[in-house]
Amino acid sequence: RRVRQARRSLKRESKVQLSDEIIFFDDVAGNEQAKLELQEVVDFFRQPERFKNSGAKAPKGVLLMGPPGNGKTLMARAVAGESGVAFISSSASEFIEMYMGLGAARVRDLFTTARSLAPCIIFIDELDAVGRARSGAGGGNDERDTTVNQLLTELDGFEAESSGVVVMAATNRKDVLDAALTRAGRFDRSIEVRRPDFNGRLEGIKVHLRDKPLSDDIDYPLLAIMTSGLSGAQLAGVCNAACFIASREGRMDVTMVDMKAAIEQSKYGKAVDLQRFISPARRKRFAVMEASISLVATLLPAIEPVDFVTILPSLKSPIGRTVLKPNIGRYTTGMWTKRYLQEQLLVSLAGRAGEELVFGRDEMSSLHQSRNMLARQIATKMLNAGMSDHPDFNNLRTLGTTWYDPSFEPGRFQTYTIITDKNQSRSEWIDMDMEMELKIRSSYEEVKALIDRNRTCLDLLIELLLRRERVTGEDIREVVEGAAHPEDLAKRA
Ligand code: ADP
Repeated sequence: RRVRQARRSLKRESKVQLSDEIIFFDDVAGNEQAKLELQEVVDFFRQPERFKNSGAKAPKGVLLMGPPGNGKTLMARAVAGESGVAFISSSASEFIEMYMGLGAARVRDLFTTARSLAPCIIFIDELDAVGRARSGAGGGNDERDTTVNQLLTELDGFEAESSGVVVMAATNRKDVLDAALTRAGRFDRSIEVRRPDFNGRLEGIKVHLRDKPLSDDIDYPLLAIMTSGLSGAQLAGVCNAACFIASREGRMDVTMVDMKAAIEQSKYGKAVDLQRFISPARRKRFAVMEASISLVATLLPAIEPVDFVTILPSLKSPIGRTVLKPNIGRYTTGMWTKRYLQEQLLVSLAGRAGEELVFGRDEMSSLHQSRNMLARQIATKMLNAGMSDHPDFNNLRTLGTTWYDPSFEPGRFQTYTIITDKNQSRSEWIDMDMEMELKIRSSYEEVKALIDRNRTCLDLLIELLLRRERVTGEDIREVVEGAAHPEDLAKRA
């Protein structure tokens, strides 16, 4: 009753939000390590005596770090749920959106409310909105400074033990935070909440589908693979969209087909109406590019089978696309062989090679940028891993000097940061660049020769795509098996 009363008065007086629904750790998929670390906060509330006797220092400020939409807020709510204490949340960006001078007052309010509701968890979202390091001369923001000062005063002014209040805050970027905030006695614990990996996605999909009527064909591991790269919030969106698709078609059960459609929609956006948006010339380009890619993907033995090919652009993907079937075995072993990467490199260069063969050098288009980038990324990964063909290249000097984000997954377009070692010498870079040049150039010549040898087959695939716009992998294989060069077909078997 106390909480309900406080909630009512809060709703009237301020924008502090109290959540109604109780969330537990089970509702948060993945992030086992974070849960383990947060168990300390739960123990602090659940078993205060034991906690005190153990001599452990009470948690006071806990920072949750990680990219948006992966469950930081949900995790904070789960800590409150598991601890059986009240949860009040507020977003730091709201502090400073208010009229001048109100930011500090809002912070004060928040802590006063929390003390009256104790035991309780305060959650401050987007802490970086107020907590950014103060910039030097001229760049200051008075409102932000007074707000963050008030926050520091509040943090210093209470003890978790006596007040029964723990403050949790979320940020996408710890690196921009004012160091004063992360000092001992303030937000001195930080816990990472990551974008879900394979297991995280597997759990996530199960959590979001758990109360839904499902058909027997739902294959969770396959779905976890197909959703690679999606955030926790996007996963939730996919599951919702699948339910929506099922109900729109008048069905109760969500099927694998609904899930696949929802994933495709989430990754590429809805398909746009071809006739209205695309000139015949552009359409022909898409057909040539996708025919080349699907031809090469079908001929190369290590590449996953083609799932489908489309020349219908969608909102997020302005060109056509060739989608490969996910490969569970390779995915779960978590490694990529040289042969596989080499073939992926050929696939990523196939669209450009096909375009050059069909239209000639002077008529090539600029539609290949993202795939050319992918080719470069695959080639660099191979060089990093010592998969060079150069006899002198596999030495320590060139290995490990360029580093890639480990979330790399061949076959998907991804942007990533290249962190270079500052001590790396100019000549090492030049070696690397030359090796890359050789690799890309020889691969390009190889894939062009492969397509050229199978020109009849390519033309058939182009025809098929122009006529049908979306073609299944089975139909592509049928054409390739009937019309490809016998030597290439033999290698495939
Ligand atoms: P953040 O605070 O990190 O930006 P949220 O916690 O607000 O992310 O997540 C937004 C929504 O996405 C949640 O309400 C939930 O539906 C879904 N979600 C995100 N991560 C997870 C997760 N790990 N487990 C379950 N649901 C999640």
